[in-house]
Amino acid sequence: MPTQEQVLDALKKVRFPGLSRDIVSFGFVRDAVVDGGAVSFTIHFQTENPTVGQQIARDAEAAVRALDGVTDVRVNLEIGARQSAATAGPMPAGPNALEGVKYRIAVASGKGGVGKSTVSTNLALSLRALGFTVGLLDADIYGPSQQMMLGISGKPQIDETDEKILPMERHGIKTMSLGLITEADTPVIWRGPMVMKAIDQFLTDVKWGTLDFLVIDLPPGTGDAQLTLTQKAGLTGAVVVTTPQDVALIDARKGLAMFRKVNVPVLGIVENMSYFICRHCGEREEIFGHGGGKKTAAMLGVPFLGEVPIDPKVVVGGDTGEPIVASDPDAPAAQAFRELARQVVEQLESGMAGHTHGHDHEHDHHHHHDHDHAHTH
Ligand code: ADP
Repeated sequence: MPTQEQVLDALKKVRFPGLSRDIVSFGFVRDAVVDGGAVSFTIHFQTENPTVGQQIARDAEAAVRALDGVTDVRVNLEIGARQSAATAGPMPAGPNALEGVKYRIAVASGKGGVGKSTVSTNLALSLRALGFTVGLLDADIYGPSQQMMLGISGKPQIDETDEKILPMERHGIKTMSLGLITEADTPVIWRGPMVMKAIDQFLTDVKWGTLDFLVIDLPPGTGDAQLTLTQKAGLTGAVVVTTPQDVALIDARKGLAMFRKVNVPVLGIVENMSYFICRHCGEREEIFGHGGGKKTAAMLGVPFLGEVPIDPKVVVGGDTGEPIVASDPDAPAAQAFRELARQVVEQLESGMAGHTHGHDHEHDHHHHHDHDHAHTH
């Protein structure tokens, strides 16, 4: 009798036509059920090319049928029309402030304290270093920290003509944080309607303008606020941050499940505070064990985006507004963040991980015409 794991392994050999990534890692496979020799699963994704769906279904069926003990394969193919980033997910009514943003990337974690904000900031700076125009939205309404990490003070300006909030700029990054519009020392408990109102304001009242990337630092957890934000922002993809401890890994899975529920491609898992480099002997010490993030990523069928070491300079960088990617670009942690950015770009520019945008930008020098993209124009 085949196991569910064997079925998923077999499906990992099925590639999206023309691309190197497989349908499991794209998150297309759902509800795999093994009942004796009968296997059923759903393949769900968005395309405007029905033959692609049929080919994937055929390949998937053949791959599973080849397993020992399989007597019957049922493939349930669900194909939705591909949406542009501007219309993916329910968007807030009225003019959408994210219209000019090509890729909206959420950085998420199942729980607080794993370094989600640190990863968001350094990812944003690394993307900037690669030549992209980048914004950073601190949507961690429970503990906004981006203005400190970027070293921003003061209040954002309001554009007189349309009363919109202008993001503040630092390290070449446009940024907006709830901490900028509330008093720093006011303990704010954002509940229900207030959370939703804050989210709406970020997405409709902030003038982001034209950007290649908006990195969104989500609140930790997988509750209503996260879900609402995820849907309203029309995310292109999500990066899930974890630490090597088991509890964090379990939470990371919850994060992944949330994005799958709302159809947001998970770009992968990054393991932060992964290991420690001994200051005296230079040796790598794996305080919390090794390989948890990588294993979890493999098990869940998403890419592993790398390991960021524990480095006291990361903390100093965060506290002084000079993120390590800017202050010490050669440090191993900074290199890991740049590698993360590189992988995010690679996945998005290959055209598959995300929804492509409905219209081109004039400054869009990264444009990439792959096979799949062609159907969106
Ligand atoms: P979260 O947003 O998940 O709550 P933060 O990004 O605020 O987490 O990080 C929590 C704390 O851990 C901060 O003090 C931060 O400086 C520190 N930290 C994050 N990543 C690292 C790292 N790789 N090495 C050392 N300290 C880190």
